[in-house]
Order: sequence, then structure tokens, then C-alpha cells
Amino acid sequence: PMNWRVSSLDRFRLVSNSDAHSPEKLGREVCVFDTELDYFALRHALETGHGYGGTLEFFPEEGKYHLDGHRSCDIRFSPAETRQHGGRCPVCGKPLTVGVMHRVEDLADRQDEEDPPPTAGPSRSLVPLSEMLSEIYRVGPKSKKISHHYENLLGRLGPELQLLTTLPLEDIRRASPSLVPEAVSRLRKQEVIRAAGYDGVYGTIRLFHDAELRRHDGGASLFREAPPKPPAPPAVAEQAATYRTDSQRSQRTIPAAPAAASPTRVSTDSLAGLDADQRRAAEITRGPLLIVAGPGSGKTRTLAHRLVHLITDQAVPPAECLALTFTRRAADELRERLRSLLPDGWRALTVGTFHALALSILQANWNAAGLQRGFRLASDAERLRLLGDALGVSAKKARSQLSAISHAKRTRTTPTDGKLGAAYAAYQHQLDTHNLLDFDDLVIRAADALASDPALQAAYRQRYRWVSIDEYQDVDEQQVRLLKHLVPADGNICAIGDPDQAIYGFRGADVRFFSEFQRDFPAAQVVRLSRNYRSDRNIVRLSSQLMATSSTQAVLEDAPSLITIHEAPTEKAEAEFIVQTLERSLGGHSFFSIDSGRSADAEGQDLAFSDFAVLYRTESQAAVLVEALQRSGMPFQQRSHDRLLDHPGVAGLTEAMRAQVGSLQAGSLGDRLEAAYSQLRQTASAGSESDEATHAYSLLKPIAQAHDHDLDGFLSELALESQIDSWDPRADRISLLTLHAAKGLEFPVVFIVGCEDGILPLRWGKSESAKLDDKTDEERRVFYVGVTR
Ligand code: ATP
Ligand code: MG
Repeated sequence: PMNWRVSSLDRFRLVSNSDAHSPEKLGREVCVFDTELDYFALRHALETGHGYGGTLEFFPEEGKYHLDGHRSCDIRFSPAETRQHGGRCPVCGKPLTVGVMHRVEDLADRQDEEDPPPTAGPSRSLVPLSEMLSEIYRVGPKSKKISHHYENLLGRLGPELQLLTTLPLEDIRRASPSLVPEAVSRLRKQEVIRAAGYDGVYGTIRLFHDAELRRHDGGASLFREAPPKPPAPPAVAEQAATYRTDSQRSQRTIPAAPAAASPTRVSTDSLAGLDADQRRAAEITRGPLLIVAGPGSGKTRTLAHRLVHLITDQAVPPAECLALTFTRRAADELRERLRSLLPDGWRALTVGTFHALALSILQANWNAAGLQRGFRLASDAERLRLLGDALGVSAKKARSQLSAISHAKRTRTTPTDGKLGAAYAAYQHQLDTHNLLDFDDLVIRAADALASDPALQAAYRQRYRWVSIDEYQDVDEQQVRLLKHLVPADGNICAIGDPDQAIYGFRGADVRFFSEFQRDFPAAQVVRLSRNYRSDRNIVRLSSQLMATSSTQAVLEDAPSLITIHEAPTEKAEAEFIVQTLERSLGGHSFFSIDSGRSADAEGQDLAFSDFAVLYRTESQAAVLVEALQRSGMPFQQRSHDRLLDHPGVAGLTEAMRAQVGSLQAGSLGDRLEAAYSQLRQTASAGSESDEATHAYSLLKPIAQAHDHDLDGFLSELALESQIDSWDPRADRISLLTLHAAKGLEFPVVFIVGCEDGILPLRWGKSESAKLDDKTDEERRVFYVGVTR
């Protein structure tokens, strides 16, 4: 019915299918056919509507993001209410999480769902029988009692779908004297009580009011009394009333927030939602500022609120603000927040990574940067080819030389090794003649351009008068150089970070820049945040054991979580342990787990797939996890911190897209990617090559879709992207991430695999002992980042 409100969808036949990851959920959503059950008959029914009986669904309100709201503030709003509140939560002042209905309202060109288009087919929503029984008997749907009643009813009355939809109520009454026939009757009339889901909270659909169930418990039968007033049909007015009561209730139960958010200031206070320390930091808006604090202390949150404060309370023009984040994913997230907090101003703000900023400087000033018009970034394959051509060396040799060249570029050192020096020169010459840049050049050349042209530097300083940087502990020398050209020593720069989380030394970052911030910007004020909002006592104790010197940690006083150390004999056994634990925590969903009785002690906790992350040191550890998860049928998203172009499957897909001709070439990038993928799958040998293509396809799909028809835009964006950039926090999937990719993220449940000498800490052959110490320290910090997620 939501689709019926969008007239451009009228030309489609609407179908509905359920996920197939657990047997009892099969058929929760189905298409109804009254035809022969063969391909041609089904196809004919879908084409013509004859023999197509529409869909059975669960109630859309059950979805976790049906309405808008804030889970932590207990606010649930209809789209209209969200608009009334300017998109902000009346409790904490932060942007509300906007749900599906909101999107429907945005897209809809019909007022209501009353008038289905002829292509629609009937649609009806169902409540699964076990949930119905669970409501009536007031015990969990997975309990023994419910499965006993469930089996009993099916044994006497036949399949569940028939029982719920067509079986005469009389038959049900004969078989079940309880409230079941009444429940089925209400369901068939769609007279249900809906409490819609919002901001990650599942919605609930009920068939009885509490009082009715209590009366029934007390021995009275619903059928002997005066007919009960059935729950009101889900009219719009009724729903709005429910939401209002809900939000009123939550306003009465505002906890004594650390934010000192007095209700009268809430809607106008851009710093509501920050605690006293965070607020103090955010209120320092002039001159250099360094915010130092441990994981989960709200650094990133403070950065976002500080920007809003600058713009709304201090009248700083958004166009003068620049926010630099470590990944494009983090930039997107920040932009999304700002969008709802500053509906008018957010577009003017510049939010991005160092590399994206550098690219924009070079594109706008290619001439000053000594580049030719139309320069572009070389892909990894091109770089290998250029070096290989210039020196006539093998791809393997070229690859190792490229990585040494890259290190030399970033640290601005001249290679001492003569051969490497020659390779560097030849490679650079090739880049220049082909009007290409490599990834490392971006920041270097942008800094060079500003350094050599005082007018240009002045123009940029004028343009970005407020600069903020998150994850400052991971900047490298070139990035700091670019920053110092962008911001004068007493300028408005706010750097945020945690030296204990510096983990990108292997890419040339250096935590020393963090400690040198006060030397680079001598007027800097330093603020520490003391409260941990993420991790409880046990986790903090573990992580401070890792970091004997850490001074930035604080404790969340809450029921302490469990830390489990599990020893497994092999990595397969380790993966198996994770799958079993996941199944137990998620309520034993898989066929295999039920069959083998493995999840007999399953407890239906309120956890979703997206609440879990499995973290590992190197990407190569993912394969056995992927295999185990695929076997169990659990959905996951796998991301590393590597650049997208370095993924072995990506080049194949992009080359295939480039080579397309004719009608394919005219299609949308989403379609073109899909065509390229199926083409590769046909030619790829089974095994790792086809797995790579599949993984690459899942990485590229969201980016291709975002670029519509623009292949050049798509390809040049790929050059700037890391795999983690397409990680989707909203997808209900388990996250498989490298520890590096998990930086800045948080999850209720985290597994860290491969905690063994050689893997974590990772060791590469022999190094000099001084270097080894540095590396071990960095490995320690990598583990620390994992533990504090
Ligand atoms: P990391 O070091 O991992 O990057 P961080 O210091 O940037 O962590 P955030 O991610 O900003 O921390 O915040 C951690 C969690 O604590 C988030 O869920 C955030 O919403 C919550 N949080 C932070 N400050 C507050 C606050 N004042 N009130 C309520 N929740 C808060
Ligand atoms: Mg952060």
C-alpha cells in the first residue's frame, strides 16, 4: 500500500518476498497465484494480472525504521510531527532518525492508500500464528508452551497460511476454545493495534488490549460478554493520537541528562546533548583548539555540535567552515547530521577527506599547480603498467617498488637505494607525460600549489576561516603541511583525536604531529573530555591494561558487559564458534542450528544482525569467516580499510563496464555494473576469482547507483574511495571489518579474531629492533582500537 501512493509505480506489478534465512520465516511474505505453478503460467499472471492474487505481508509498522524518532530519547514521531519539530528531537535537540514513512510521504503524489492502481493486486498483512499465540499466552514465541500449542493447532487444522486467511472460523473455534478464533477474525479484518517501529526499535502488532487479556485470564470468555469493542481500525487520526501520547510520555521521563538540557532551551540550544566538558570544548570557537580524549568520549559528537553552534549561534557563514574526516564514510555521516540540523546551511559547508579537499584545490587551480587541464588520477592498474613499461620489470617487482615510492613520496625522502631512485624518476616522468597524478601526489601537489602562490594561499585562508579535523592522531606529514598553509598559526583550527588510537603509521602517518599541534599552533587551548559514553568497567579495565600509559580513559557506570576469551584450535573452529554464538544471541534462526539442536538454549534477545561486528587484523583472515557465515545464511557486509581500486575484483568490473557498447552503454551505471558482473561470473573460474567479483560487486553497487549515468564521475570517485566508505550502518547485516576500518565505529557486540602472536600483533619478518618496537606499539594500539569499539 505504500507503493500505491506513488503513481509512477502504477506500471509495475507489485510482488513481495520474504528473506529465506530461517524456516519459520519462510512465507511470511508471499505472492498469491491462482494458476498452474509453472514458469509460463506465473509469468503470464504477472504480465496480465489474471490469476495473480496479490501479496501477503507482515505489517509494515513492524519494521525497525517505519516512523521517525529517537530510540535513546524515547521519541516516536509521525513524518508530520518531525516536520513540525524541524527535524530535531525535542529531548536532546539532535536530528531525528527519519524512517520509511517519511520517505514515502516525500515521494507520494497520492494522499492515501485507498485507491490501489489496477496493477496492484490485493494486499493483506498477517501476524504469524506463533506471535499471536505468544500474545494470548503471554510467553515468548520461542517458548516450549507456544511451540506445543502451535504444533497442536497445525496438526488439527492444517497449514498456517490457510488457517490465518481462509479456514472457516467455525472450524478454528471447534479446534481451539481460546482466544485464537477471535484473534484470527480480527486479523482478517485487519483490526489490529499497531505500535510502529522507529530508530532501530522493532514495531509491534497486537490483537488484544491488555484489559481484554486480563479479563480472559480471570476466567471470563470474550464471547459470553457483551461484544468487546474491537481495537479501533488503524485510521490516521488514531495513529497520530498514539504517537502524541508516546512523545508526551517520553517528555515526562526525560532522564537527568548530563547535557544539562533544560527543557525550555532544548529546541534552540545547539549544544543540548553535550555534557559540561564537551560543551566547554564546543564553546571555544576562536583560535586553535585541541580536543584530546579516549575512545567513546564523544569527540566526534562534539565536533558536529560545535559546527552547528558556530553557524546557528555565532553567525559564522557555513561556507567558511571546512571539516576534514578520515574517511568519506565519516564525512557522509557528518554531512547527514548537519543536513537535518541545518536544513538551509548544510550544503554550503565543506565536509570531506584530505584527499578530496586536495583534489578540489587542484581541479580549481590546475594551472597554478603545474598540471595540464583534464588531469586525472591513475588507477592502480595504470600505475603498475606505467612502471612496468618504463623499467621492463615484472608486476610483482613493480608492485613492491610502487609501495616504496609511495612511502618516499609521503615522507618526502629521497630513496637512498640507487635502483629505487631511478625507478622513482622514471615513474614520475611517465605520470607527467600522461597528465596523471597518483593518490599520494594529491595532498603534496595541493600543498605545493598553496606554498608557491601566496595569493592562492590567502584566498583559501579567506575561504575556510574555520577548520575542524577529526582523528588528528592519524595525520601524516603532507597533510599537516597542507593544513599549515590553509590555517595561519593563530587561526581557527580545531583538531580532535586520541594518541592511543594512532594506527596508520604503516601508511606514513605519525602520532608525533599530534603532540606537535601546540608547537605548530602555539596559541592552542587544550581540552580533555572525561566521560566515556561507550564502554563499561570491564572493557575499560581491559583496554587500560593494554595501554599502561593511557590517561584518557574513563568509565561508563553501567551493568558491566562480559568479556569472553575463547581458545579455538584452528581458524575454522574459531569461525564456527562465532557462528554458534551469533545464532544463540539472535535466537537460533538457521535450519542447521535447529536441526542439530545447537541452539537449544537460544534466548530471543533484542539484538539484530547489525549489532555485531567481527574484527580482524588482515583481510586474508576474512575468508573463513565469510565461508562460515555464508553456510549459516546470515547476512553480512565485509569491508577493509584498503582503497577500493586496490581490490583485486574491482579492476575487472570497471574495465568490463568501460568496454560496454550499444544499449548497455546507454543504461544506468547500476545496470551496467550488474551486466559487467554477470559477464565476469560467466567467464571467471569458480572459487576465489568469482568470490572476488562478488565482493567487488557488493562494494561498487552503492557507488554506481549514486552516480546514475555518469561513468567518469563514478571512476574518478573510485580513486578516492576506501572499501569502508560503502559500509552501510543501516543495513541489518553483521559487519566483518579490519580493525583499521572499524576506527570511529561502535557496536553492542564485538568479536576480535586471530588474537595470537604473529597475527595480532602482526609480524613481518625481521626488522631492526628500534623499528620493531615502533611496530609493536602500533599493533598494541590497533588492538586497543578493536577492544574499545
Ligand atoms: P572514538 O574515539 O571511537 O572516535 P568518540 O570520542 O569520537 O569515539 P563518539 O563516537 O562521538 O566518541 O561518541 C561515542 C558514543 O557516545 C556515541 O554513541 C555518542 O552518541 C555517545 N555520546 C557521546 N557524548 C554523549 C552525551 N553527551 N550524551 C549522550 N551520549 C553521548
Ligand atoms: Mg570519533
